[in-house]
Amino acid sequence: CGVFGIYSKSGQNLSRMIYFGLVTLQHRGQESAGIAVYNDGKIHYYKEMGLVREVFNDTVLGRLNGNIGIGHVRYSTTGESYVTNAQPLVVQYKGGSIALAHNGNLVNADKIRDELEDNGSIFQTSIDSEVIANLIAKNYNLGFKEAIVKAVQRIRGSFALSIICEGKLIGVRDPHGLRPLCVGKLDDGYVLSSESCALSVVGAELIRDVKPGEIVIIDDSGIESIMYDEGKQKALCSFEFVYFARPDSFLDGQSVYKSRIKAGKILAKEHPVDADIVMAVPDSGTVAAIGYAEESGIPYRQGLLKNKYLGRTFIQPDQKMRELMVKLKLSVLKENVEGKRLVLIDDSIVRGTTSSRIVEMLRRAGAKEVHLRVSSPPVTHSCYFGIDTPTRKQLIGATHSIEEIREEIGVDSLGYISIEGLVESIDMEDKRLCTACFCGNYPMEVPSSGNKFLFE
Ligand code: 5GP
Ligand code: SF4
Ligand code: MG
Repeated sequence: CGVFGIYSKSGQNLSRMIYFGLVTLQHRGQESAGIAVYNDGKIHYYKEMGLVREVFNDTVLGRLNGNIGIGHVRYSTTGESYVTNAQPLVVQYKGGSIALAHNGNLVNADKIRDELEDNGSIFQTSIDSEVIANLIAKNYNLGFKEAIVKAVQRIRGSFALSIICEGKLIGVRDPHGLRPLCVGKLDDGYVLSSESCALSVVGAELIRDVKPGEIVIIDDSGIESIMYDEGKQKALCSFEFVYFARPDSFLDGQSVYKSRIKAGKILAKEHPVDADIVMAVPDSGTVAAIGYAEESGIPYRQGLLKNKYLGRTFIQPDQKMRELMVKLKLSVLKENVEGKRLVLIDDSIVRGTTSSRIVEMLRRAGAKEVHLRVSSPPVTHSCYFGIDTPTRKQLIGATHSIEEIREEIGVDSLGYISIEGLVESIDMEDKRLCTACFCGNYPMEVPSSGNKFLFE
């Protein structure tokens, strides 16, 4: 998912600016979109299934006035894809209303939900994010700051939150910093965003990232910071760099574009091959392919064209649709493929269905050889932290050897970047990244397999 928020003194064009922010974060979720604004003690909101530009129009945005607002684009991991599960979540409690937008996934939400329900709390949705709002409401008599601290100390998993509460805009990042969240400065206020790419579209400048384990409280007097948990090891999701984030974003100071170029170069060193052309599976493999071409000296050409007007295939929640979408989405440029030895670069192989279809298309167009190079290591474990990887038995990297995968996909050779190579490409000073889906080494305890937290 993607979260966004603005605190502005004037409140001028607030909902339109949030709309721009959400359009820029659209790649992070395409199932539903929503905006909530705070005006004079009241919260108004609108959310619906669909893309940001389908959900909002001028009339709707014109009704959402205020000086604080948050927005959300959703891609579901827990909770079905229904409008009741869309965000921001707006809940009433005795002190007023809270609006909350969550990117991430909680691993102890069910446990907390059971406890809260035993004590009489009522839940409106099936999303894990609602327990956060409930925990805040429950501790409200401690004051809102303490209530938020208590709530976020209780939850486990990944969360980047954008909250409206008590006339403040509040940002929270989980103690491992699994999901990104940054702060931008406007002429008359501040912006919170999952990715820095959405700051410039509203005229904001990146000032810093929210730190792992930090709460930022934004109002007229500026930014107040509360460190609520400093004891955890930092573990920003490496998959953000591989696939999820936009290349023009900076996450915890690192350029996503630069890391993808470097991953391509490292991949070329780790898995060189004699070939005529380097090409990408667009768009997710494009930047790494440019890096591979540069390092290997093999020219980069487009071999596949992408229909820009479709969503991301993987994000269609159903497997059948996902398969059909591949054909709708990609077509072959025969002149760059026929009779050629190709190096095909993709960012990841999850189920293996996308790659198989693409290789089939390339062979039909007359490719002489296809050498697949992947700019992330084999995905061998499920993610519990907000990326919708399937259960282990559906992960081709968990159930097949590399040679079996090569055969299954139908390529002449197959090479994945190593975990060390990936970490090097991201070039974090402290190398503190989550790589659990590639190695099984999770930054915290996760539910054992077979559990419903596995995204089925
Ligand atoms: P598969 O191997 O499952 O057929 O598809 C892998 C492709 O899905 C990759 O090219 C990757 O770019 C794309 N993809 C899109 N969304 C996601 C996502 O949320 N998670 C993962 N792991 N891959 C995704
Ligand atoms: Fe990211 Fe993989 Fe860790 Fe999930 S398990 S947070 S996808 S690196
Ligand atoms: Mg892809």
